Amino acid sequence: GKGIAVLTSGGDSQGMNGAVRAVVRMGLYVGANVFFIKEGYQGMVDGGDNIVEANWSSVSGIIHKGGTVIGSARCKAFRDREGRTKAAKNLVKRGITNLVVIGGDGSLTGANLFRQDWPALLQLLVKKGEITEEEQKTYSHLNIVGMVGSIDNDFCGTDMTIGTDSALHRIIEAVDAIASTAYSHQRCFILEVMGRHCGYLALVAALSSEADFVFIPENPPPENWGEKICKKLQQERSMGQRLNIIIVAEGAIDQQDVPITAEGVKKVIVDKLGFDTRVTVLGHVQRGGSPSAFDRLLGCRMGAEAVLALMEATPETEPCVISLDGNQAVRVPLMGCVLKTQAVARALQDHRWDDAVQMRGRS
Ligand code: ADP
Repeated sequence: GKGIAVLTSGGDSQGMNGAVRAVVRMGLYVGANVFFIKEGYQGMVDGGDNIVEANWSSVSGIIHKGGTVIGSARCKAFRDREGRTKAAKNLVKRGITNLVVIGGDGSLTGANLFRQDWPALLQLLVKKGEITEEEQKTYSHLNIVGMVGSIDNDFCGTDMTIGTDSALHRIIEAVDAIASTAYSHQRCFILEVMGRHCGYLALVAALSSEADFVFIPENPPPENWGEKICKKLQQERSMGQRLNIIIVAEGAIDQQDVPITAEGVKKVIVDKLGFDTRVTVLGHVQRGGSPSAFDRLLGCRMGAEAVLALMEATPETEPCVISLDGNQAVRVPLMGCVLKTQAVARALQDHRWDDAVQMRGRS
């Protein structure tokens, strides 16, 4: 059978295990030899025990676990030709010519480069006498498929990334817990949530928790936001509201690019209104805990589709990333999505906020 390997790379997210499980089981179902690559690209470069053949039972009992049981890493060596040459040798020696990469836009860019570079890498390995000409011929082409694991929902071309829904569950649990104590003491709570270039988590958390204010990178407030927010908070208190919730995305800025932090917002409120105000930075709690049913299912659907895409791939097929379109797992061009995702980041940098939001759309 064909050799398929699966790895997780970059930041971890809940639901990656469901995706790995589906790749393994679907791969075995279609008669492939399936391998785990542990510790992301680092494991592919290092080889040895990092690349292990999987069987049906090696993915039992992982779907409910957060993070990624096969490990993830950032890997400097894979950015260089030398590292990628070692990685290619490790794959060829195990008969692997199909790769499923679960990661962010950086990891998918790396996968695409690896695929493009593959014939040249094999040529190099033949020259060095590390693989035979026979092996070069047999394994002449590498197929890749991507899936996006990210709690931020920051990737263009998919309705949801794997992990976002679970992170939202964590955030909402925290806001609900805080709201009850805030109510008791008539406090104002400011929560900082993750999302460097993407305010999705902050926005959806704010909508689902009746927050009074939300700060996101895509919609920087005007300079006088301090006055506005204080006016609104005061109004609400005078109408009998006992608590206030304000959500700040990690990457929030004002229109002059000055970061808006939870501490900064607190200072404004305390200075102007003297409210009892507390800050909670949620941090890695958002990545933790068990994946939601949605993320488990998303991982399953995408993983199965990834294997089917690999089975149908030819050297001429453009590499794809599996995305969610409504409730269907579909294939979309990998590099198109990566480039669009990077264009969104640039648009935000250049203060073209409306462009950024428009480009985030599915297609
Ligand atoms: P993410 O995948 O979450 O965006 P990174 O950007 O840190 O995270 O990428 C994860 C890993 O992918 C890097 O540590 C590196 O090994 C690999 N990678 C990222 N960009 C490239 C690139 N341009 N060329 C080769 N490898 C890359």
